[in-house]
Amino acid sequence: MAIRDIRVVGDPVLRTPCDPVTKIDDAIRALVKDLLEGVDMEGRAGLAANQIGVSLRAFSWNIDDEVGYILNPKIVELGDEIQDGDEGCLSVPGLWFPCKRANYAQAVGTDLDGKEVVVEGPGLMARCIQHEVDHLDGHLFLDRLDRSVRRKAMAAVRELEL
Ligand SMILES: [Zn+2]
Repeated sequence: MAIRDIRVVGDPVLRTPCDPVTKIDDAIRALVKDLLEGVDMEGRAGLAANQIGVSLRAFSWNIDDEVGYILNPKIVELGDEIQDGDEGCLSVPGLWFPCKRANYAQAVGTDLDGKEVVVEGPGLMARCIQHEVDHLDGHLFLDRLDRSVRRKAMAAVRELEL
């Protein structure tokens, strides 16, 4: 199965809140397969369904050699401690900016069998969870940047040849 194209900044699907997954059918199974294949590549940490053009609440991750997915994720816990490292996005290719995130996050959702999935962790996993759930809500990490960084980021985005 071909890897679906990654949608990039400016595509309205990235700015549209995704719908919940309400039934498991072949289309959802195909979506999960594409999310898992699409994230299992060098340099990829997470992939949200709308980044491959499907406006449904699902994302995949590839962190510390563990690849997984979750349907209908809800963030249930964010730590008080803040991390402030560089963040990037497949939909904003080649650009990285410092972005403050909670240093711990936990999300709860389900898998294709309807079983509960809990994804949680500190550091990169926490950043990934927040970044991907943002995607599903129609946000990009650019929205999360401090004002001065954001100004530079938006100028750099305008220079992207997409
Ligand atoms: Zn992203």
